[in-house]
Amino acid sequence: MSDRTKQEPLVQVKDLCKYFQVSRNATLKAVDGVSFDIYKGETVAVVGESGCGKSTTGRCIIRLYEPTKGQVIFDGKDVTKLTKAEQKEFCQRMQMIFQNPYSSLNSRMTVKEIVGEGLKNHGASDKEAEEKVELLLRQVGLNKDHMSRFPHEFSGGQRQRIGIARALSVDPEFIICDEPISALDVSIQAQVINMLKDLQEEHGLTYLFIAHDLSVVKYISDRVVVMYLGTVVESADTEELYAHPTHPYTQALLSSIPEADPKVAKSNKRIPIKGEIPSPINPKDCCRFAERCPRATEKCFAEMPALREIAPGHKMACHLAE
Ligand code: SF4
Repeated sequence: MSDRTKQEPLVQVKDLCKYFQVSRNATLKAVDGVSFDIYKGETVAVVGESGCGKSTTGRCIIRLYEPTKGQVIFDGKDVTKLTKAEQKEFCQRMQMIFQNPYSSLNSRMTVKEIVGEGLKNHGASDKEAEEKVELLLRQVGLNKDHMSRFPHEFSGGQRQRIGIARALSVDPEFIICDEPISALDVSIQAQVINMLKDLQEEHGLTYLFIAHDLSVVKYISDRVVVMYLGTVVESADTEELYAHPTHPYTQALLSSIPEADPKVAKSNKRIPIKGEIPSPINPKDCCRFAERCPRATEKCFAEMPALREIAPGHKMACHLAE
């Protein structure tokens, strides 16, 4: 922690909001005031149930969505205010790996074209691009023979490897991994995760890892940001969060992780979360978790709790911490 705080963050997400106007009187607040930092070389995981706004946050950071409010600062520059030339550099420095390796690759392009496209856009000659594609395919466990094939000729795991090679092709510093293993067979998931870890070390990469599988997050991330209905409810170093989850939602989420050891599993008490995740359309101006929280009080239904530091590097948004 102390080493990290001495540096400037590589990415600063500040009070980020993304709203969608669904009708004249209805606003879907997919992301509503999210803030966190990402330091060079680390993996920050954003977790939460589907619909919590984690993927929308990632898409706003890489500018696939225009944020409604707030800032994303990348290496000291606000990404919403870049000039054309700066935008080209930004696209090279920040890349994304998508959840679905089936739909994220153009089915009419060969692997050589898919992986080499970014290289050519950044000025590489045909020969340079071909050599680099060959090298990248080796790095992700594929080979030269795969270059002339089309995406449908590969398994899901192999397609995700192609997606990773494409992201790496322009030598990025920061990669947003949006649920990169959730569409893959369980047997393949560990291979892809280990490969991402190895590539991070080799290339000095920084990751934002968006996921709902909390066992994987514990294994891959340095820090965790827990989101609920468009807001951050807790964030901390991974070890601290898994050892001392403090927000009632985080406690319930972590209690649902399956435990391999039957003795530990017997002593672990699962905390059920009642009801379904509420609609993010016109959310009430109070704690977003209030309707499902076993510890909710009157204040929780009247006031939104602020995200505050409860221990060094550990933040939580809950009236219980006040
Ligand atoms: Fe539960 Fe209240 Fe804390 Fe929200 S603020 S998590 S409702 S105790």
